[in-house]
Amino acid sequence: MLSDKEKERYSRQVLIPGWNQEKLKQANVLVVGLGGLGSASALYLAAAGIGRLHLCDGDRVELSDLNRQMLYSESSLGLLKVEEASRRIGALNPSVAIVRHNAYLDSRNAAEIIAGCQVIVDGLDSLEPRFILNQESVLRGIPYVYGAVQGWQGYAGFFHPPQTACLACLLRPGAFKPDRVPVWGVTPGAIGLIQAGEVVKWTLGQNPSLQGRLLIYDGASLSFEIISVEKDPACPVCSRA
Ligand SMILES: [Zn+2]
Repeated sequence: MLSDKEKERYSRQVLIPGWNQEKLKQANVLVVGLGGLGSASALYLAAAGIGRLHLCDGDRVELSDLNRQMLYSESSLGLLKVEEASRRIGALNPSVAIVRHNAYLDSRNAAEIIAGCQVIVDGLDSLEPRFILNQESVLRGIPYVYGAVQGWQGYAGFFHPPQTACLACLLRPGAFKPDRVPVWGVTPGAIGLIQAGEVVKWTLGQNPSLQGRLLIYDGASLSFEIISVEKDPACPVCSRA
């Protein structure tokens, strides 16, 4: 049941046809990586009233994060991202329960971090943990909302085998990995919000628009292109799902 305060807080969004605030309140959403992408998705998911946000990051806030990671401010420098993110989200919407994982996701801790979550939001900046997330999401039948950015370009997708392809149908480990990817705030902001929107649609029982598809965003020319991602019959991760 929504409290009177919650009814007031969400009074504008419950006017949207098909909205169900109770469903959002009951949701458990995992955001892995609390950088530029995770800042955008976690803040908007919290504002929308996702009941329980599971946050995972082992990093501390640096000055060079502040051009794009809107969860933090200069007073956050040197502090754990997961703690600062929890504090900021708590100030925005104290009715959201936070589960904190001060850790980098790897193959040893992934199962424990994902436990109890219904959808995974990718806020990562490297491929290796993305493949672990993808694999775990396929194993558990949980949708995985991909996001990635570089410079003015961003990508988003919603993968949920066996209905759709998975990340490994699209990318394979060993793809190039630059040390310091160029990025400014609007790119992960735009992609993180698209990810949040797909999570909310899924939670409301609606069809995410990026199911089995990849959005390619180019902020420099301001173009949005959506392509289908075909299932790879030889995919090492999802071909048996
Ligand atoms: Zn696959």
